[in-house]
Amino acid sequence: MIESQRRAAYLQALGIDRWAARQPTAAPTGAPAVVPPSATNVGADVWSELKRCVAECTRCDLHRSRTQTVFGVGDPKAKWMVVGEAPGAEEDRQGEPFVGAAGQLLNAMLGAIELPRETVFIANILKCRPPENRDPRPEEIGECVSYLHQQIEQVAPRILLAFGRVAAQSLLGTEATLAKLRGTVHRFGPRHTPVIVTYHPAYLLRVPGDKRKAWEDLKLARQVFAELPAEA
Ligand code: SF4
Repeated sequence: MIESQRRAAYLQALGIDRWAARQPTAAPTGAPAVVPPSATNVGADVWSELKRCVAECTRCDLHRSRTQTVFGVGDPKAKWMVVGEAPGAEEDRQGEPFVGAAGQLLNAMLGAIELPRETVFIANILKCRPPENRDPRPEEIGECVSYLHQQIEQVAPRILLAFGRVAAQSLLGTEATLAKLRGTVHRFGPRHTPVIVTYHPAYLLRVPGDKRKAWEDLKLARQVFAELPAEA
């Protein structure tokens, strides 16, 4: 499939039937370069240790029912980082976030702004599956979220995309509704990394009428990224 056909397919999955032409300057400058993890990467030891800590973690009761932890996937030096809620049944089985139908829609959403899945880093607030896919409990988030904070510290993305209410509220430390959090550029951490909030793909599969709003969020993220100052 050639690139324009692939992008059209991504947009179709988002319910967007026509690619809106945009100025070349709005393109995500310097699409994230894939830097494979290697011993020469700064922080490689810290990253391995973090992975080990998560894999062995028993800080909350979710460790009792998990098949395995779901650390995250993608480029550990990505410029874009995706934050979701928690593993579902398939993620728990495969050990990877955002697989199955929601994962395919996430890939389409990223593809619509020219971000191949492998060029971002994808992680969840919780690393273990809540039983019956219930919402994460505050105490579980309280125990687990520091792993995500360390991942963000190590990846040092230039922009964060929070998918869904739980991800957005946990990342931003707020109880504001998703409706209030969308459409605004939030900031995270000491680097004041911009955070854009949008709907979780699993929600969009249930409520496809909101895909167009998600597309607006993605366009905002693309614009914010394009306008970031050049890296030192
Ligand atoms: S959800 Fe997080 S804190 Fe709880 S056991 Fe899993 S890795 Fe540890």
